[in-house]
Amino acid sequence: MNVWRDIKGTVQPFWVTLRNMFRRPVTIQYPEEKRVPPPRYRARIILTRDPDGGERCVACYLCSAACPVDCISMQSAEAPDGRRYAAWFRINFSRCIYCGLCAEACPTWAIQMSPDYEFSKYATLDMVYEKEDLLVDHGGKDNEYNYYRHAGIGVVNPRGGNEDEAPPVDVRTNLP
Ligand code: SF4
Ligand code: SF4
Repeated sequence: MNVWRDIKGTVQPFWVTLRNMFRRPVTIQYPEEKRVPPPRYRARIILTRDPDGGERCVACYLCSAACPVDCISMQSAEAPDGRRYAAWFRINFSRCIYCGLCAEACPTWAIQMSPDYEFSKYATLDMVYEKEDLLVDHGGKDNEYNYYRHAGIGVVNPRGGNEDEAPPVDVRTNLP
């Protein structure tokens, strides 16, 4: 009986080899061949723009608060029309774990995950991206969304000029 078991043990690996010889190879010859990732693939982060070309980011710090590895930093600023923006915005991709929590937290859809996975660098410092490196000239996954048209004040109309909006208060008039 042991003879049959030994014969089976000898023949079986050849059978496995023979069967796989006629299967389609799954190896992709990267970088000559590139796989197109699924639409929800999470790779390089981008900062998107409104349909009118304005920066969507209002520097609310929610993305940096949500980031589990603290790799987002920024400084907020306010334009004369009341629109907030990031004076500078920085992501350290050498620490990013591509979890997508920043994109989930963003109320304006400014920060989004793109499927661009080809941005490896030799030097760690080259993985620190500034706002200019992150900003794109489109709206990413939703080109039509405009945060300020839903919630903004002082951009669609001047401050105090929107429906049911009180005129702005000059805080100095409250001083004794
Ligand atoms: S994808 Fe995750 S780790 Fe990377 S910046 Fe966003 S929250 Fe931080
Ligand atoms: S990217 Fe989004 S969450 Fe982050 S600061 Fe800008 S508006 Fe806020």
